[in-house]
Amino acid sequence: MLFRNRKKVAKFGGSSLADANQFKKVAAIVNADKARRYVVPSAPGKRHKEDIKITDMLIACQKTADYMPLWEQIKARYNGIIADLGLDVSLDNEFAVIENALAEGTTVDYMASRGEYLNGIILASFLGFEFVDAAEVVRFTADGKFDPHTTNAIMGERLSGVYNAVIPGFYGADEQGRVRIFARGGSDITGALVARAVMADIYENWTDVSGFLMCDPRIVENPTPIKTITYRELRELSYMGAGVLHEEAVIPVKLAGIPINIKNTNRPEDTGTMIVPESEDVPTDGLITGIAGKKDFAVIRIEKDLMNSEVGFVRKVLDVIASHGMSFEHLPSGIDTMCVVLSRKEIEGKEAELLTEITRAVSPDNIDVVTGVSLIAVVGRGMKSAKGTASRVFTVLAKNDINIRMIDQGSSELNIIIGVDDADFEKAIRSVYSEFGA
Ligand code: ASP
Repeated sequence: MLFRNRKKVAKFGGSSLADANQFKKVAAIVNADKARRYVVPSAPGKRHKEDIKITDMLIACQKTADYMPLWEQIKARYNGIIADLGLDVSLDNEFAVIENALAEGTTVDYMASRGEYLNGIILASFLGFEFVDAAEVVRFTADGKFDPHTTNAIMGERLSGVYNAVIPGFYGADEQGRVRIFARGGSDITGALVARAVMADIYENWTDVSGFLMCDPRIVENPTPIKTITYRELRELSYMGAGVLHEEAVIPVKLAGIPINIKNTNRPEDTGTMIVPESEDVPTDGLITGIAGKKDFAVIRIEKDLMNSEVGFVRKVLDVIASHGMSFEHLPSGIDTMCVVLSRKEIEGKEAELLTEITRAVSPDNIDVVTGVSLIAVVGRGMKSAKGTASRVFTVLAKNDINIRMIDQGSSELNIIIGVDDADFEKAIRSVYSEFGA
């Protein structure tokens, strides 16, 4: 039998590390599998609904002159975790450095990053892992842009010599050592970067839900969890508003073909959701993987006889849109019709001007703008090999008295997009779910 030295990277979100009790769950998870060699923590999150995230408190400190009371609360929170875990570690030196920086008027990036930094030191001590400062291994350029190539090289090199490490999420530094942060929620990105740099077998993203659900639980009660989803499906669903992983977090692991497993720190026995590269043998949960949508689109509808034979028609329309610096979302078209779907905000107040310019450019027979349109994406790699999926979607919507304003199916056959009135948005999602879900 062949044994491989398996490597897992485990990223834990803020709620997974909100207090000592959560730290203990994290340690139990890490210790349960020796392959979990690299751990990426967030800053302590909310312990209850009214609580404030440490990151938000740190940012508030940087923004107020009278930061001392807040700073004392932050220190007390960390010291509380250390005491409750019975650890023989002191953050006093680190606190002094941060206090100095605060007094000298430090940057918001530096302050925001200290949540992960301090939490990383505690977690490393609790697990008995080496602490590797993200400022050392995550590189930004002098103008604050993330530098993936240098990061991959430095991080790969640094971690190749470390068997077990804790690398705090969310931040890095430029060449001058100035701390820079990713966008909020960016610890997901650090986890992915570590997974890629060490060529992990899997990137585990531990949070407070047991993976992704087929649709928004605020719209559908108890939707079925998704067992397996491909990167492409995930992209389609998150583009359509399914708030899941940080989008940028997917790129490094996708490039390296490393699967992501979304897991629940409070229910580690749940399988969670596996995000995997496209391949023929990825099992499907069902015909439809997920349903997501967004409200508030505007559709420019254009009709012209023999449009299909007019060379450059679509380009001329799109040139007008581009000349206003607008980007469009979809472009469904028929033989003599085309629609340009844009977000309503994008065209608000400019409708008349756009219509005039498009009319001048292509002389359509009819042109108008419909606002208040919602788009719903029905996503599933299982559709490709099954006949009749689209017809089931349309039939169930018709049965529920929902008027379809627009249809768009990508050539990948992964996704059917339907436009409905904003007023029908929730009802449409519930109807499609009732047809395919559970
Ligand atoms: N702590 C940071 C935030 O609150 C980053 C993260 O948790 O991913 O956004």
